[in-house]
Amino acid sequence: MTLDNIIEEIKNAKTIVILTHETPDGDAIGSCLAMKLALKQIGKNADVIIKEVPRIFDFLPQREYIKTSSDIQEYDLAISLDCADFKRMVGNEYFEKAKQTIVIDHHSSNKMYGNINFVNPVSPACCQILIGMFQYFNINIDKELGTCILTGIITDTGGFRYSGVNSDTFEFAAELLEKGVNVSNVYKRVLDTRTKANFELMRKIIDRMEFLEDGKVTFTYITGKDLEEVNAEIGDHEGLVEFSRDIEGVEVSVFIRQRDNEEDVYKVSMRSNDYVNVSDVCLMFGGGGHERAAGAIIQGNIEQVKQKIMKELKKVLK
Ligand code: AMP
Ligand code: MN
Ligand code: MN
Repeated sequence: MTLDNIIEEIKNAKTIVILTHETPDGDAIGSCLAMKLALKQIGKNADVIIKEVPRIFDFLPQREYIKTSSDIQEYDLAISLDCADFKRMVGNEYFEKAKQTIVIDHHSSNKMYGNINFVNPVSPACCQILIGMFQYFNINIDKELGTCILTGIITDTGGFRYSGVNSDTFEFAAELLEKGVNVSNVYKRVLDTRTKANFELMRKIIDRMEFLEDGKVTFTYITGKDLEEVNAEIGDHEGLVEFSRDIEGVEVSVFIRQRDNEEDVYKVSMRSNDYVNVSDVCLMFGGGGHERAAGAIIQGNIEQVKQKIMKELKKVLK
């Protein structure tokens, strides 16, 4: 049984590192900090290594213990959370050298790159997998741990709105509320707080929005120059792709963002509404994600990237 193997490996390890994907979101950071707190209860000290944490997550318990690197080169155990692909992992050099590796994730495109892989693509958030796991391990989900967990659930479900939400999600949320987690405060901080730079970027993407394929696709972009102009910080582009998905008639929203200091490289984000599996589309470009939210990295200038994406989308639009 994998859960028993996981706890056994944790108990056997003296040094543990917790890692996640680049441009980490609330589920990535919430999962890492929740795991750190859970391990602490079992008497294990673990390092969380995340290079760039968006400012909006500064309120999370244990935030101050997140490291950007470590002196330990060979950990006994590396745990990867919310990360579908070894390539996307920040600090994957620690994962590579670790004696034992565990992957816990909810991406359908997960590459199963650990010694132990615990992947549930039906779970709406990695944090929701963790809550079930911690209950099995008899870990007390207190207010601090619960706050980290709820952050992941709220961010990855768009505030309990997306189709992946199930009855467990609400039951867990109710339990967390009983433990004293301030649900409305977490909600306000992670979903209803917009930085000034994010707002300025929003103006730009709206201005540039193109409707393609009879209005079934929206396309917009942000360049490195735009990010400089608005003094964007880490994470200030988050959520921009969501905006145009809500327009009537739109099936897929496409947002591309120039990667820092790389002339012709774009990070692509896609969101869909009813039937397009954007994870499959992104897999064509070496990326992945979920059916309704996915990403990839594509080479080329804005026009070339747009053409590449549209060629694939045309095949799957009804
Ligand atoms: P994003 O558009 O960056 O918010 O990502 C949407 C979803 O797709 C998230 O669950 C990401 O973890 C996943 N994702 C984004 N980029 C990639 C990629 N290059 N490879 C695999 N999964 C990705
Ligand atoms: Mn994530
Ligand atoms: Mn996630």
